[in-house]
Amino acid sequence: MPNPQKIVVIGAGINGVSTAIWLRRAGHEVTLLDKDGPGAGASFGNAGLLAQWAIIPVNTPGLMKTGLKYLLDPKSPLFLQWSYAPRLMPWLVKFMSHATEDRARKMIDGLIPMVTDSLSQHQALTRGTSAADFVALSDFSYAYETRAAFEADSYGWNFRREAGMAPELIEGPAVQDAEPILGPRIKCLAVTRGHGHILNPGGYVEALTQVLIEEGGAFRQAEVRDMTLTGGRITSVETTQGSLPCDHAVLAAGIWSKPLMRKLGLKVSMEAERGHHLHLKNPSQMPNNPIMITTGKFGFTPMNDGLRCAGTVELGSIEKGPSRKPLELIRYHLGRSCPDLTFDSAEEWLGFRPSTPDSLPLVGEIGQTGVHAAFGHQHIGLTAGPKTGRLVADMIDGRRPNIDMAPYDANRRF
Ligand SMILES: Cc1cc2nc3c(=O)[nH]c(=O)nc-3n(C[C@H](O)[C@H](O)[C@H](O)COP(=O)(O)OP(=O)(O)OC[C@H]3O[C@@H](n4cnc5c(N)ncnc54)[C@H](O)[C@@H]3O)c2cc1C
Repeated sequence: MPNPQKIVVIGAGINGVSTAIWLRRAGHEVTLLDKDGPGAGASFGNAGLLAQWAIIPVNTPGLMKTGLKYLLDPKSPLFLQWSYAPRLMPWLVKFMSHATEDRARKMIDGLIPMVTDSLSQHQALTRGTSAADFVALSDFSYAYETRAAFEADSYGWNFRREAGMAPELIEGPAVQDAEPILGPRIKCLAVTRGHGHILNPGGYVEALTQVLIEEGGAFRQAEVRDMTLTGGRITSVETTQGSLPCDHAVLAAGIWSKPLMRKLGLKVSMEAERGHHLHLKNPSQMPNNPIMITTGKFGFTPMNDGLRCAGTVELGSIEKGPSRKPLELIRYHLGRSCPDLTFDSAEEWLGFRPSTPDSLPLVGEIGQTGVHAAFGHQHIGLTAGPKTGRLVADMIDGRRPNIDMAPYDANRRF
């Protein structure tokens, strides 16, 4: 085992806590920090999907046309806060510049190793711990109103087939036999088998933090304000609770990693894809497996304490609270797809997906500073968190990961 190092992990979302656990298991002295407590960010309210099929980024060829069409259609799942448009523009231009055949292929090649073994990565992280009970095995279906709508999605399905995920099609009344919660409007289900989901994402991150503590790591609630570098290498992390000396730091603060990178004198191109959820309490029906309602682009996941509908994309500020329109859109498409579903109440939530222009996360050391990036996971952070943690722990210990890390290079220019 390499010499035990003092390591501070900044941010107790799924990426931070997974990294902290793998570092602790490698024998290091680990302190996990969060300004608000474990699982307070995007990791709290996501759709809970271990999305092994999520190998297609948002910025694929044709985005310009569909994006404009979506923005003009109030019943579509893409929204823009127009007042934020001037600040968004530099990122948006870079994001759109990746929507070409060649670049999309590269992004897909980068996403495949990050997501396709997610279930076994979560199982390896939680095996023998109390957090294992949060990981459920499931199939996943895309729900379409017509066969033609499924066929119009052929761009993504062709890549998924190539990656070994050929869909099984269920059509006509057999849809309602498979998923009685779906009404007659849904006429085609494209099912992929052998995935998983998390039964309570916020509770999962809290349970993982407890695992870290039980295995000898530490958690502290403190806000990181700065990092001190001596001779170009990190020597301490400065927090609201004082200074923490360290040999390495891991920056896993989701969307808030951007201002902390600025403290290192680095400008990272990252914006929030705002997403909302409606969490239905005491629903009259539950799906047998998680489903994507394709018209509203939200996941529909059975959880321990209700039914979670989470998704949509709103480009905008992280300073503003929840928006009515995405939440209304989820309600609208839910009503159309599941006409008999009733529930007692619905919790509303807003979260920030940390998104880079090439839809790939930053994983690895920033220069030779001893600060390691583990952020920028856009729509797939829950899926890829445990793998990210393992990769970061391997790299800190000088073990070469068995995948090509170049696509996630923390020093790349967009
Ligand atoms: C609506 C929605 C649905 C989604 N569905 C899925 C899904 O089904 N599957 C999937 O894989 N992904 C999904 N995602 C994406 C996923 O939730 C994110 O990619 C992931 O949670 C990011 O995790 P993280 O650990 O990087 O960041 P976060 O979970 O945001 O954690 C960052 C943490 O850093 C802390 N922090 C910030 N600044 C500081 C500071 N200065 N000092 C100390 N602490 C700090 C915050 O308090 C926070 O707890 C969804 C996202 C949304 C919004």
